Amino acid sequence: MQEENFETLAIRLQAERTQFKEHSVPLYLTSSYKFDDAEEMRALFANEKEGHVYSRYANPNTDELINKMAVLEGAENGWATASGMAAIFTTFMTFLASGDHVLSSRSVFGSTHQLLNNIFPKWGITYDYADLDKPEQWEQGIRPNTKMIFVETPSNPGIDIIDLEWLGQLAKKNGILLVVDNCFATPYLQQPIKLGADISIHSATKFIDGQGRTLGGIILGSHQLIKEIEGFARHSGPAMAPFNAWLLSKSLETLAVRMDRHCESALKVAEFLERNPVVKKVMYPFLPSHPQYEIAKKQMKQGGGIVTFVIEGGAAAASAFMDKLKMFSISANLGDTRSIATHPATSTHSKLTEAQRLEVGIEQGTVRLSIGLEHINDILGDISQALA
Ligand SMILES: *Cc1c(COP(=O)(O)O)cnc(C)c1O
Repeated sequence: MQEENFETLAIRLQAERTQFKEHSVPLYLTSSYKFDDAEEMRALFANEKEGHVYSRYANPNTDELINKMAVLEGAENGWATASGMAAIFTTFMTFLASGDHVLSSRSVFGSTHQLLNNIFPKWGITYDYADLDKPEQWEQGIRPNTKMIFVETPSNPGIDIIDLEWLGQLAKKNGILLVVDNCFATPYLQQPIKLGADISIHSATKFIDGQGRTLGGIILGSHQLIKEIEGFARHSGPAMAPFNAWLLSKSLETLAVRMDRHCESALKVAEFLERNPVVKKVMYPFLPSHPQYEIAKKQMKQGGGIVTFVIEGGAAAASAFMDKLKMFSISANLGDTRSIATHPATSTHSKLTEAQRLEVGIEQGTVRLSIGLEHINDILGDISQALA
């Protein structure tokens, strides 16, 4: 096929069609596969022959989704999991052993924090946090047993950014695996592997599904690294269901147009908030006031669909704002067609201490907005009346 453009690939990369020549990909609801004879069974289990065995390993629907995601992100291969957290856990479990150290961005998804802070210590895996906006902390944070650097950029909900090319070089120089949670950007806006990351992870639950319907996770990397992921995932079972893979593969067909609209509206919301006197601070990658604006411009196509702001008046003002919203949903999800408001301090990041929250830039007055696909006038109108 000649088409090289993202939009076209996201639509036209399809699994082989069956004898029915269906236009859209069918759903393969089967847990296992038949073998022609005993020899074929042996050869498939011995990895001497390509083909399907069991849907915990792979399925035509997960194959199609992974192939599309890998091409769109410039990765050699990938693996699909039941959720974004399953993708993150699988990646940690595959590459880390007792005694290893992880250097992670301080501002990570709440459940990733829980893994590092409360679950991995019992297996002897240690960690340190570094701030995305302080390069020296990354240089100084590397220890002899540091096996992995893990970052979210842009981060949730602080919208901090790190230069992935720079970090990739630092990781390579030290022989450390660089893993990027690319959830906020999607492959349409940022392609970490092309910038020097070894692994890129998605919670497909967010913008990739984009319609608030399903959970999913995707891990992308080289053939070699994905082979190691497979070694863990095949036997531990974080598999994505064929139905979810089918949905997500269909969702990719509209990712580019959806992201264009999310980003266009989010930038307008960020600019609007920045002009409002009751707003103390606005974080959005493509606002010139963002401290890492130049880096964002260099490594992202657009700023993404999430705008985080701090309202004057702390927790009381944040709750009053959320309660006055008429159209926005109050929900912990993001990346939906519907605009969503979240109060991170009492929801996604409630398990952190107040001091830990302040370190990652979450104040009591911080509100995270996921800008949906409704008309921009209705989005701005709702925010405006709720701030009044
Ligand atoms: C939601 C999210 C996750 C977790 O994904 P699930 O699909 O909910 O398991 C991980 N990282 C980021 C940045 C997220 O927003």
